[in-house]
Amino acid sequence: MPLFTRRAALLGAGGLLALPALGRDAKPQPAAPTVWPQALAVPGGVVRLSLGPAATRPVAQARQGDADVPVLVLGDAIAWTAVVGIPLSAALGDAHISVLLPDGGGARQVPYIVAPKQYKEQHLKVSPRTVDLSPEDQARFERERDHQAQVMATFSEQPAGGALQSLRMQVPVPGRRSSSFGLRRVFNGQPRNPHSGMDIAAATGTPIVAPLPGKVIDVGDYFFNGGTVWLDHGQGLLSMYCHLSSMDVRVGDVLRAGEAFCKVGATGRVTGPHLHWGVMLNRTMVDPALFL
Ligand code: ZN
Repeated sequence: MPLFTRRAALLGAGGLLALPALGRDAKPQPAAPTVWPQALAVPGGVVRLSLGPAATRPVAQARQGDADVPVLVLGDAIAWTAVVGIPLSAALGDAHISVLLPDGGGARQVPYIVAPKQYKEQHLKVSPRTVDLSPEDQARFERERDHQAQVMATFSEQPAGGALQSLRMQVPVPGRRSSSFGLRRVFNGQPRNPHSGMDIAAATGTPIVAPLPGKVIDVGDYFFNGGTVWLDHGQGLLSMYCHLSSMDVRVGDVLRAGEAFCKVGATGRVTGPHLHWGVMLNRTMVDPALFL
C-alpha cells in the first residue's frame, strides 16, 4: 500500500485501505425521531442553529477558507433551522454562521461553540518508500481534484426529489463498519489526513441504495476513489460512494430513497471490497453516522 502526498490524501477519501475493525463505534445518543441529523458540535460533526421566524427561508453562510459557503436551512415561517457541517480541521471554541438580512442590510452572526472530540488513532508501519506519483498520475489526480471541487460546490435550492423534509438516512449497504469517520491514521509516525467517511465492508457486487431521495451529479472513475457516484439531496447536502464495481446511473438521474443505483467493489486504491460512504454539508465532510 503506497504512501501518498498529503494533498492527494485530501481527495483520496481515505479509500486507500480497507481497514480492520477497531471496535464498535460508540452508540449515538438517542434524539427525537423527527430531528436529524443528530447535533454534535465537534470537528466532523453537525450543529443545528435556530434562526427564528421569517416569511421566507433565510440565506445562511459559513466561512470556509476564503469562501462564504451556503448552508442548509430547513423549516417554515414560524421557525427556521440551519444545519451546519463542521470541518474535521475546525478550530475549537467560538464559531459562527452569517445570516443575510433582507434588502441587502448586511448580515447577523449566529454563534456556536466547537467542542473537542478525540477520534481514534491508528498507527501503521508501512514500507518506507514514498509515493511519488508518476507525472501522468499526478496530472490525472490534479484534474480529478479540480473536477471534484466543482462537484462539491453543488447547491440546489430545491432538490430533485421534492422538498427536503427528514434528513434521516437509511444505511446504503448492510455490512460491518470496517473504518469509522475521523479515524486518525499515522504511518511510520507521520500523521495523514483523517478518514473522511464511513467504510462498510461488503462483497463485491452488493447493491447500494440511495439513503435519501437525490439526483446523480457525478459518475466517474478516479485515481484514488475508483468508481464513484455523487448524489445531491438538496441545499448542499451531498453523498459520495467510492470504490464501486458498477455504476448503474447517469448524471441527471433522480433516485428515490431506497433505490439501488450502484454496487460495492474494490476499485481505486484499496486492498479489499468495501463502500466508502461520504456525507457532505456546506462542502464539509461530516460523520455519516449522525444521519442514521
Ligand atoms: Zn474509507
